[in-house]
Amino acid sequence: MGKYLCIHGHFYQPPREDPWLGKILPEGSAAPFRHWNERITRESYTPMAFARRLDGAGRITEIINCYEWMSFNAGPTLMSWLARGAPETHAAMVAADKASLARLGHGNAMAQVYHHVIMPLAKARDKELEVAWAVADFTARFGRAPEGMWLAEAAVDTPCLEVLAAHGIVFTVLSPTQAKAVANVGSSDWRPAGSGNLNILEPYLVELPSGRSISVFFYNGPLSQAVAFERLLADGEQFFRRLSGAAGDGLLCLATDGETYGHHFKFGEMALAYALSQAREGRDGLAVTNFGAYLAANPPRHKAALHEPSAWSCAHGVERWRSDCGCTDGGHPGWHQRWRAPLREALNTLKDALDAHFDALAPGLFTDPNDALREYGRVLAGLTEAEAFQKTHCAKGLSASDRQTAWKLLSMQQFGLASFASCAWFFDEISRLEPVNGLTFALRALELARQTGAADLTPRLETALALAPSNLPELGNGRTIWRTMVVPRLETPCTLAGQAALTLLASRRFPAEDESAEVAWPGATVTVSRTGGKSAGDLVTATAQVAVLHESGRESVTLGLPAEGAADLPALPIQAALDGATSVFRGQDLPWNKRQAIADAFARAADQAQWEQALDLAATGLRLIPELQEAQETLTHAPLWTGLWPALAWAHVQGERLCPEKTALLQAFLHRAGRDNPAKDALHARIQADLATRLSANSPDFALVADMLRRARESGLNPDVWALQNALWAMRPLPAGASGLAELLGLAW
Ligand SMILES: [Zn+2]
Repeated sequence: MGKYLCIHGHFYQPPREDPWLGKILPEGSAAPFRHWNERITRESYTPMAFARRLDGAGRITEIINCYEWMSFNAGPTLMSWLARGAPETHAAMVAADKASLARLGHGNAMAQVYHHVIMPLAKARDKELEVAWAVADFTARFGRAPEGMWLAEAAVDTPCLEVLAAHGIVFTVLSPTQAKAVANVGSSDWRPAGSGNLNILEPYLVELPSGRSISVFFYNGPLSQAVAFERLLADGEQFFRRLSGAAGDGLLCLATDGETYGHHFKFGEMALAYALSQAREGRDGLAVTNFGAYLAANPPRHKAALHEPSAWSCAHGVERWRSDCGCTDGGHPGWHQRWRAPLREALNTLKDALDAHFDALAPGLFTDPNDALREYGRVLAGLTEAEAFQKTHCAKGLSASDRQTAWKLLSMQQFGLASFASCAWFFDEISRLEPVNGLTFALRALELARQTGAADLTPRLETALALAPSNLPELGNGRTIWRTMVVPRLETPCTLAGQAALTLLASRRFPAEDESAEVAWPGATVTVSRTGGKSAGDLVTATAQVAVLHESGRESVTLGLPAEGAADLPALPIQAALDGATSVFRGQDLPWNKRQAIADAFARAADQAQWEQALDLAATGLRLIPELQEAQETLTHAPLWTGLWPALAWAHVQGERLCPEKTALLQAFLHRAGRDNPAKDALHARIQADLATRLSANSPDFALVADMLRRARESGLNPDVWALQNALWAMRPLPAGASGLAELLGLAW
């Protein structure tokens, strides 16, 4: 057999997308990053893909893609954000799966139940959808069918394993505490798992009532805990020794939260990379593998029976996600979780109503409603085009409005499921962003039900939510939280149109007469076409075509805006008319994060406009700099030049040639004016982006990039070269002409 190692990372973020815009809005608590996905990606997910190994002099000897040497799952909701928000990280994860597949015959990536719901608590059809949609998403992303699937919170019972097995999943990973009894395959000599009978170094078979079976890997609990809580990541060598010490004949596997590396523990990814590199080199006889490869070579010889239902983070089964069991996180000892049961009950009640609505309408719209629902996952994954889906699954001869209803019903079911993401119950308070986000998905589903003819489900939901007490007396209960924190997030075609108009005005992109401009969020696109100039009542008129992702048809909203030039954009009354009903939209009525997003759009446009003007001025100014005269140490009237500092520095880095005397004077000025200059970060970002673009060109001019970097450093700038190091490393072996740049970047080859 031999000694094998597999470290699994479970990467997950609560879904933060606004369910109408499909976009993550600003979250103040994540500052200086825009929101938590961005922050954790920069601290953990991306460094994991580009982990450094350094020599004694601090130079980089290797950049390791950790995903290539560990098992991982990230799940559809996080992966689809990564594809948009951090495409190079998403690409590195996909590449890591391909590389491991080539090396081991089995890929490192595992699938994950679609919305991270607690499977034992989901209705039968929902279990099926969570798995079918996850398989579709995984297949689209990784180009192969998944072998393994991560269960949210490792929450398991027999019905959910049946669904996994029916979808071709061959293994999952559980905590050793979830094993109840073990026996040899083919015998019924069951022994309790808790009395030393469980050998976690080998996979176990779980035989299912259907006659199917699935393999289970039980991870090493103490070592996985130590990674999270015992500073094991402070020292890569110590980490490796602990791993090596725990290894034996068989597979040592750990299950860890991916965020541990780099987010919870700074530079944790470097310790991981070190340990993985040691194992990769076969130190102490250890070999790196993954679950699929190990299982193929070592079919289970033993079988296991499980505690049902059970999970890895609750000692009471799956009570953490439906009752006040005491298991909690969030940092408020003494807070109750009496809100958990009513919250689950409220969402279950809503789900029952959504299902009933779907089941009443769907037979007239789809050839096979359950089939359509299952295959809808392929649309979400981009595997099936809307047109093709409609052809296969919609009933023949549907009117345009029936088709619209069909798509809305599918979307309704998707958002209904999204409201059950496990994180809503995980922490200690119902007013946290996770439960509020879950309820916002419920609001989206409820609204789609209303639009497709269901009776308003709000009263039923509110009655149930009123029974969920908050720990904060001023917030009351679930019903008050619903009314004050969830309902204000509601979007309609009119608010989407108004928000798009305001975004265009703030970013100075509002179209001129007879022209159009578009605001494209991931979840909805609004095209604003200016139809007229000032007309009676001093209004500017426009139409806004609102197209919603995965829905057919468009809503056409007629907009009327006060004549341009209004400085107080938040107060600007924008008339929005749809189907003969006119409402007035004002930016100031939007929730904080939507107002912030509009302010950000303004700031970006203003910054760009200022920058272009500054470049213009600097081009002239640069040539007007005279040489030094006696007793002169800096530019005459240096303070007057300070505002132009970023643009002058940029011009210098870009290679504007001046005579040596002027260059020296300019550099002295740049040094002085740049010291503690608040514009420095923005300038660094511009230089970093520019150098990265140059390095990603077809045949990069390495000497020029090196020259620019040198000039930046000579001017007192210190742009972050992390991405440049990654880019050059990816071109190995060292391309001709790049050794100078490699030296500057601290790459030791
Ligand atoms: Zn518990």
